[in-house]
Amino acid sequence: MEYAKLDTATLAHVDDSYYYGAYCRRCKHFARLSLVKLRAHLGENFPLTKVRDRLRCERCGLREVVITFLAPNQRTGNVAYLFREEPQE
Ligand SMILES: [Zn+2]
Repeated sequence: MEYAKLDTATLAHVDDSYYYGAYCRRCKHFARLSLVKLRAHLGENFPLTKVRDRLRCERCGLREVVITFLAPNQRTGNVAYLFREEPQE
């Protein structure tokens, strides 16, 4: 099975079986984002790589956001805990 890749996928290729987390360099705020909701906001043809440009920290407003993107086949081992978090807006 082929999974979507961050470099090439659009929001049409992913859903919340994927993990998309955003971390703020300044205030260390961290959130898991819902790819389903992002698709609803941005459209299914929106490239995954460009989602990062649209993000800003909801706490301090900084745009220096670090992304963690994981495919469903990566939800094992020491990153499995990430998938237990419910996605936020
Ligand atoms: Zn912040």
